[in-house]
This record gives sequence, structure tokens and C-alpha cells, in this order.
Amino acid sequence: PATLGVLGGGQLGRMFVHAAQRLGYFTAVLEPDAQSPAGLVSHHHIQTDYDDPTGLAQLAELCQAITTEFENVPAQALQTLANTRPVAPGAAVVGIAQDRIEEKAHFVACADASGVTCAPYAVIQTPAQLQAVLDERTDLLPGILKTARLGYDGKGQVRVRTAEDLAAAWVELGGVACVLEKMLPLTAECSVLVGRGWDGQVVSFAPQRNVHVEGILAVTHAYEGNMPPALATRARDAAVAIAQQLGYVGVLCVEFFVVADGSAHGGLVVNEMAPRPHNSGHYTLDACDASQFDLQVHAMAGLPLPQPRQHSPAIMLNLLGEVWFDASGQRREPDWSAVLRLPGTHLHLYGKLDARAGRKMGHLTITGPDVAGVKAVARQAADLLGLPGLDVG
Ligand code: ATP
Ligand code: MG
Ligand code: MG
Repeated sequence: PATLGVLGGGQLGRMFVHAAQRLGYFTAVLEPDAQSPAGLVSHHHIQTDYDDPTGLAQLAELCQAITTEFENVPAQALQTLANTRPVAPGAAVVGIAQDRIEEKAHFVACADASGVTCAPYAVIQTPAQLQAVLDERTDLLPGILKTARLGYDGKGQVRVRTAEDLAAAWVELGGVACVLEKMLPLTAECSVLVGRGWDGQVVSFAPQRNVHVEGILAVTHAYEGNMPPALATRARDAAVAIAQQLGYVGVLCVEFFVVADGSAHGGLVVNEMAPRPHNSGHYTLDACDASQFDLQVHAMAGLPLPQPRQHSPAIMLNLLGEVWFDASGQRREPDWSAVLRLPGTHLHLYGKLDARAGRKMGHLTITGPDVAGVKAVARQAADLLGLPGLDVG
């Protein structure tokens, strides 16, 4: 059988491997960690660094097509693989998504096509640029200073209120390339998953509403009425336009802010994009007839992309390492039996052995025949597990 390859061994790779195997594909994972979630379940595990030329050659040799599952994969490695094999998404688009400066420039460039723009921002790469912002762009305060590269889950970000805060924050972040973004009054956040094939065929999921706690996704609400329909349509159209403008192949997630009505942004602002399936799309595994990982497999393998249909309302609760510790800091296994006794609960654990605060260990999706029932069960599950961020009213 044909083999599909993944650069990276995290949980996104693991769920991709599961989806590929269901269609009869063999899989190969290149990942240095011996105990990685994806490496553990793949037919082949090439245990080496992401930029090791020998490992990359081995991966290309084994595979019909190759994808990546984490944001900070060296874009050069994708380029090397692309010399001999189809790689999706490509090195160029991954490079754009890895750099907030390039990413925002792309959003600005396709604002006409997408109908959305990003939060007001300024680039700070040099002391002179910092000084210019301090002198001329106080309209961006209060704001968030974000490193251009390598940030995720709110890491590499400092909230700044004053010019003094900003100058100190840039030093604190190491004086590396950053963007200063104006702090917007968010009323909600959402994201949209788009799948695009080599032939340009595009499919998408309806927007999911996301709740973040301390910069990390905590809860995803995926059901009709999770946000105003006009905004949902705009977000979906914008994400498709952004994917098309990139010539993207594979699954792309675009994150949006919803801001208070009457603002200059017309209610919707694009935040960032992830060139891969996304944590906020995990509900698609249990609530849709094709998941985000199925789309990624189809896109890579050159198969037609199914337009997914959501058959059940769903809420996803992220399970971070905290859940594995009691109030006194003792490690203990959560009471899964109590959770799984609740109707419509689907538990996904990623096979990670060491639980640490903030580490993504698994997720729980709740599905059911109606939204009210799903919310009620999600409330009970969140209480049992001590989870934050569930604002189900
Ligand atoms: P991810 O893990 O999603 O890649 P990240 O580290 O790249 O996260 P962002 O998405 O830039 O971080 O920001 C994390 C969260 O911080 C957002 O989801 C939002 O809740 C908040 N946030 C970021 N930028 C702004 C802003 N300009 N105004 C208000 N809130 C913001
Ligand atoms: Mg990000
Ligand atoms: Mg984000």
C-alpha cells in the first residue's frame, strides 16, 4: 500500500495517522522523540531531527506525499522534501504562517478579497523601529507585543499598557523581531477550517467559537447558533479567500476575533492562521461525517475532498496537564469512568506520559441530539474534571 509521511510526532500527527490508516495507507513519521504520540502509532518512525538530510531522504523514499503537523517545522526541510515528493502545505506558505510579520502582510494584501483585515499593528525589529513606535504609534497602546516567530499558546507575548511597558517588554523578549498589536475589545473568538486540494477544490467547516484561558484554547463551541449567522458567513468566506490567495494545499485553520459592534473593523478581525489541522477542529472527529484529518489525508493523497457535514452539535473541552493533579499538587489519574458515564462523551488521549501544566494531553468532545443537552453534559464534565472556560450560560 501507499505510504503518507508526516514531519513531526505530536497529537496532530497521531490523529492524521489514524485517519490515514483507516483509508488503508501506511504512514511514516519523522520525529526525534522516541515516545511521541504519532511515532508510537505509525508504521514507520524515523527517529531523527527534523532537518537531518539522511532522515528526510529516508522519509521521501518511503512516502507518496508528505505533510507537517507542527508550526515550527523548519521550512527548509519541507523544501528539501518537495524536491522529490509532493509536500502539502508547501514550504512557502508554512514560512508565511511561521512569521507574524509576513502573515500580517499577507492578510493586508488580501483584505479586499477576504473582506477582513487584522488588528492595527507595527513591526518592531530594531531599536530605531521601537523608538519610532514609542514616538508615533501610541494609538497601538494598550497592546500586545508578540514575537514574530516561534510563539504559540500565548508564549512569546507580553501585554503592554504604556510606552515604558513596551520598551521593557521588547528587552524582555530578547530584542528579537516582534509585532506590536493593538489590544482589541473582543466579544468572542472563532476559527474556520478550510481544506483545499491540488486541483483547487475547496471545502470548509462552519466556524467554531473558541474560548481561550491564559492564551491557550480551553473550549470550542461547534453548533448552529454559536455565533451570529452573518458573522459566521463572513468568517467562512474570508478563510476560503485567504486559503485561495495562498494557493494553499491541505487543511488550513484561520483564527478570527469578533469585536464589539460599531467598531471600525465591522465586527470581524483576522488574528492568525495555522498551516495544518487545528486544536479547535478536534470536534470534527466525533461530530462530522468527515474530520479535519480526513480532509488532510484526502488532500495529500490527491483524492476528492468531501464537503463535511456536521451531524451533531458539539462542545470540545481541552484536557491540559493540570487535570492530572489534585488540589494539593499530587498526581492522579482523572476519574474517566465518571466522565464517560455521561451521555455523548468522547475521550481522546494522546498517549503522553508526563503531564505538565499547559501541556495538551487530550480532549473531550460532547455530542448529542440538541444544543441544550450538549451544554448540560459539558457543564457536568467540566465540573468533574475541574476545567475552566466553560461559559455555557
Ligand atoms: P496559538 O496557540 O493559537 O497559535 P498564539 O500564541 O499564536 O496562539 P495569539 O493567537 O496571537 O497567540 O493570541 C492568543 C490569545 O490572546 C488570542 O486567542 C486572544 O485571546 C488573545 N489576543 C491576542 N491578540 C489580541 C489582541 N490584539 N486583542 C485582544 N486579545 C488578543
Ligand atoms: Mg499562533
Ligand atoms: Mg492563536
